[in-house]
Amino acid sequence: MIDTLPPLRDVIARHDLRARKALGQNFLLDLNLTARIARAAGDLRACDVLEIGPGPGGLTRGLLAEGARHVLAIEKDPRCLPALQEIAQACPGRLTVLSGDALQIDPLAHLTPPIRVVANLPYNVGTELLVRWLTPRVWPPFWQSLTLMFQREVAERIVAQPGSKAYGRLALLTQWRAQPRIVLTLPPEAFSPPPKVSSAVVHLTALPAPRFPADAPVLERVVAAAFNQRRKMLRAALRGIDPAIEARLDRLGIPPTARAEEIGLEAFCALARDLSAIPPGAPRQN
Ligand code: SAM
Repeated sequence: MIDTLPPLRDVIARHDLRARKALGQNFLLDLNLTARIARAAGDLRACDVLEIGPGPGGLTRGLLAEGARHVLAIEKDPRCLPALQEIAQACPGRLTVLSGDALQIDPLAHLTPPIRVVANLPYNVGTELLVRWLTPRVWPPFWQSLTLMFQREVAERIVAQPGSKAYGRLALLTQWRAQPRIVLTLPPEAFSPPPKVSSAVVHLTALPAPRFPADAPVLERVVAAAFNQRRKMLRAALRGIDPAIEARLDRLGIPPTARAEEIGLEAFCALARDLSAIPPGAPRQN
């Protein structure tokens, strides 16, 4: 039984799991907190859960205690494997651990839908995986929801609305295909060792279809160009995409003198659709 496992501090001491900076190891040792994160992921009882970076297994225990049907955990640090095996033994048949880099492993062969993803990961890996999970070739994706720990500032960029400093590519990319919300904010002291900044857990549910129609690569290109020069007016920032951008924006009812951070998702999608309608042979600037 999961409740009979020793405290995480003992597990860490017994297996000598001193946190390694290079692996972004900031462990959560408070099992009440890991239970809260597991609950924020929704009803896990009928789901397979993909957990990335379980470390000594605090969140893993939370996921299993919340009744996850099956947890597939991918951990890069082999030192953590014996501690994770103890959890697997306490919950026969419900925890599978894969040793390796989550950026290199395709977990799908080991998972049965519906699938929820939960992770407390190093921030750079988390953002890279989030972008991958949001940009598959087909939508809906393999996951029903993502519950991910981020640096608080990144979490705020994910949920940002037009008109705020945090609004940009990450907000648009996310909100086009998913519904994100911040479910928990955590001070540095919640982790061992404490990181330099505060953290936040973001819960994202996959929309059945993108919020507005658009061709994904075209939308991505327009948004990237608009925000690469976010202080410029759109007519200047987007000139490289279409020399006649001013007339196009006017026609779509988007003020050419506006800046990217004032433009909502719907207008970006309308612009992407309009640009996709350019006949394939027409000259374009890249
Ligand atoms: N989930 C644990 C917790 O909440 O205490 C550990 C969190 S710690 C911030 C991040 C974990 O991700 C570490 O155990 C680290 O070894 C692991 N990790 C780092 N990079 C990884 C990668 N590319 N693939 C899989 N695991 C990784």
